[in-house]
Amino acid sequence: MARIMLRMNPSASPAVGSVLIVGGGLVGASLAIALDAAGIAATLVEAAAPRIDAQPSYDERNLALARATVNGLAAIGVWPHAAAQATPIRHIHVSRAGEFGSARIDAAKHGVDALGWTLPARELGAALLRRLEACTRLTRLAPARLEALERLPEGWRARVRTEEGQRKVDATLLVGADGTESLVRIRLGIEAERYDYEQTLFVATVKPERVHANRAFERFSDQGPVALLPLAQGRCGLVLTVPAEHADAVAAMDDDAFIALAQHRFGWRLGRLDRPGRRHPYAIRRVAARQLVGPRAVLVGNAAQTVHPIGAQGFNLGLRDALTLAEMVAAAEDPGAPGLLEHYAARRAADREGTMVMSHGLVRLACLEQPLLAPLRSLALLAHDRLAPLQERLARHGMGFRGEPPHAVLERLP
Ligand SMILES: Cc1cc2nc3c(=O)[nH]c(=O)nc-3n(C[C@H](O)[C@H](O)[C@H](O)COP(=O)(O)OP(=O)(O)OC[C@H]3O[C@@H](n4cnc5c(N)ncnc54)[C@H](O)[C@@H]3O)c2cc1C
Repeated sequence: MARIMLRMNPSASPAVGSVLIVGGGLVGASLAIALDAAGIAATLVEAAAPRIDAQPSYDERNLALARATVNGLAAIGVWPHAAAQATPIRHIHVSRAGEFGSARIDAAKHGVDALGWTLPARELGAALLRRLEACTRLTRLAPARLEALERLPEGWRARVRTEEGQRKVDATLLVGADGTESLVRIRLGIEAERYDYEQTLFVATVKPERVHANRAFERFSDQGPVALLPLAQGRCGLVLTVPAEHADAVAAMDDDAFIALAQHRFGWRLGRLDRPGRRHPYAIRRVAARQLVGPRAVLVGNAAQTVHPIGAQGFNLGLRDALTLAEMVAAAEDPGAPGLLEHYAARRAADREGTMVMSHGLVRLACLEQPLLAPLRSLALLAHDRLAPLQERLARHGMGFRGEPPHAVLERLP
């Protein structure tokens, strides 16, 4: 097993302005592109080979991308490579099995053509890889794994294992974009708060009998949430959550039994569900770093916070981390300056807290079996559907406009 070193080397000092990003997943790759677009040189270290089939998160999950996210991806030149594969979400419908009341958000009511878009993660991954190829100031090391970190007076020295052997990379700013079990976070000594939902989420595509008409559905039940996202060719992305102890049984089901379960949990709003694609299971947990920054270091994306996927917030939030950081680094002389990092953490706080509380609270409240909560939940859904200011606020948050967003996501703000 790799040994990680963390000790001070007073003799070395990296060039001011050097940024090292560890992790080239959806967020790390986006950050690298945003920095390059802003004229900042950086090094991107990614453990997987730069191919769709090798990258762990460029997979079959269907991402609901908020409107702000698509603005941001367009601003950094990624969206032109992905737009043809994306499906607009024009209506969102939230309900709970066995209770009255539902909440609906309509794009037209909020003066926009779409609240967001659905895009398979593998298509976003392909778009990121294509855009990365056009970067001119970026050094990409992949496959290359961070093995050790050494503190320098004005930065960090990373020891990275590549196919050719070990390499040293010095940086004045170290960015941990290395996912939920972030090694950077561990080596910085930043603790993380953990919560196990004891749920497994199955992702598959299905063909509903009725047209989805660009509607996204979220439906809660005692067994966990289920979502249907609109996709191309009349198909939908199904996200079905089951208690973890049922996961093996659900994985072993034949297609008929699986579709019957999905139908039972989702209901008949789109008629009969049919022709399920391959099922992909994910264990669900929430991991939140207690701090976003350390000395000349910062965490972004899942390394900073991993949230329940049902709220469809993880990448949306992570991209706002990345674009805010890129914007602030581009305006600074020293990207790792302590003042800049403190300012970054303060600027991200409201969006991060609000999104995490919303994702966690939504799942906890909507899935609790307490019968006393049922009328309250129904009323909350109804109130949301009727009260214009509440609708407006939630719609704007749902579209990704929260806190002090990076300028890149505001370009097409209605
Ligand atoms: C089923 C499912 C559905 C989801 N749906 C949505 C959705 O609808 N909308 C949404 O916004 N989000 C959604 N998410 C969340 C979203 O996928 C994640 O938030 C996002 O992938 C996080 O990206 P990341 O780059 O931070 O982390 P990751 O994608 O985990 O990438 C981390 C990268 O770091 C690399 N790495 C790790 N350790 C090292 C090391 N030591 N050296 C070098 N490289 C290393 C890994 O190889 C990996 O490529 C969903 C998640 C799941 C599981």
